[in-house]
Amino acid sequence: MIHAIKYLKDVVTLALDESKCTGCGRCAEVCPHNVFDLKNGKASIAERDACMECGACSRNCAFEAITVSAGVGCAAAVIRGAMKGTAPDCACSGKSDCC
Ligand code: SF4
Ligand code: SF4
Repeated sequence: MIHAIKYLKDVVTLALDESKCTGCGRCAEVCPHNVFDLKNGKASIAERDACMECGACSRNCAFEAITVSAGVGCAAAVIRGAMKGTAPDCACSGKSDCC
């Protein structure tokens, strides 16, 4: 049985500079995991651990308010954890080339 996919906690590189945000809402539109909320005319990060670092928000923010290191999102660790029913488990942790 495949368990629900979980992402690593508190490791996502997503960052939002609210001083640059105009509240256009584009990031919330393109994010596939509903990471953003719009409140009081600004974006805010509501579900940080749901971010899979796809980079769509950063690429679509015309005001350069969002940065994220888009990559594979430790896909192997997430899949291994899902297969075993455990938290994501990264075999390369601690090595210099670890993602
Ligand atoms: S796309 Fe950029 S400017 Fe627009 S709401 Fe999101 S962070 Fe703010
Ligand atoms: S990187 Fe992708 S998943 Fe993460 S907040 Fe941006 S659009 Fe959403």
